[in-house]
Amino acid sequence: MEKTIDDLVEKKERIYFYIASVISVIIYGLIIKFSLPTMGNFAVILLVMKILHGLYIGHIRQNAVKISKKQFADIYEIVEDYSTKLQLEKVPEVYILQSNGILNAFATRFLSVNFVVLHSDILELAYDNGKDAVKFIIAHELGHLKRKHIQKNMLTSMAMIVPFLGSAYSRACETTCDNIASYLAHENPTRGLLVLLAGKKLYGKVDLKEFLEKAEEEREFWSIFSEITSSHPSLSSRLKKIQQPNSGNNTEISEKNES
Ligand SMILES: [Zn+2]
Repeated sequence: MEKTIDDLVEKKERIYFYIASVISVIIYGLIIKFSLPTMGNFAVILLVMKILHGLYIGHIRQNAVKISKKQFADIYEIVEDYSTKLQLEKVPEVYILQSNGILNAFATRFLSVNFVVLHSDILELAYDNGKDAVKFIIAHELGHLKRKHIQKNMLTSMAMIVPFLGSAYSRACETTCDNIASYLAHENPTRGLLVLLAGKKLYGKVDLKEFLEKAEEEREFWSIFSEITSSHPSLSSRLKKIQQPNSGNNTEISEKNES
């Protein structure tokens, strides 16, 4: 059954987004009203951040491999396919970055261009053991672009000073992207997270049921406290969630009801 984006968005994401936006706008308003000198400092900080971000994007463009129809065409095909299914306006620029064993991927945006950076070890995994894990990771990052999380972070940034609110919003966004990824990469959605859990060599040996049972047994105050102060849900929470049937027929995701 085809799903809408609405079906895949974590309900708390919208609630936390509205709360964080209102608080953030109030704080921006207070800064403007009462402390114009601070506004000047604030503008300088934003400018410095923009310049640093630009430098980083410039570094990526010259020191990472951009995938295309001629370069890692099979990976590009996945990106193109999921971008179409998510009805993204444009296929993002995707780069492979050598990262000395770090398993990571992230989505970013600079001067209205969307980027996804995949660390090279994740791609090595795809060529060694099949593309299921990589499909999940790509779909997750495209989910951030679909939901415009990067642009929204600009609006909500001031509310991040409220304890727990920023991390709660971030975790809800991550859950949304896991939902999107497990819908699109539905053949084997747990693989992408098992790689982050156990690494690219051992992930196939993890007994998921045993891991989840032990994590549940050991879930006590400090585990919960650690999770609620983190930007991402724990891997045990994420794996438990995407294990639940969420897959459709991997067709496009309808725009209906999106907000
Ligand atoms: Zn994410």
